[in-house]
Amino acid sequence: MVCAKVVPLSGGICQPCNEKIRAQAQGSRRDIRDRSDRELRKHGGKPEK
Ligand SMILES: [Zn+2]
Repeated sequence: MVCAKVVPLSGGICQPCNEKIRAQAQGSRRDIRDRSDRELRKHGGKPEK
């Protein structure tokens, strides 16, 4: 969750929250890739690397 501070810079959120959100977005993207790799292995396919 972002804090209630409204900053006109960096998309309306403060710098620490902006970095946190960016890190979460990267983390979830990696989670999705891990999950699809696992799905492929379960079905006998090879994950593209
Ligand atoms: Zn903040």
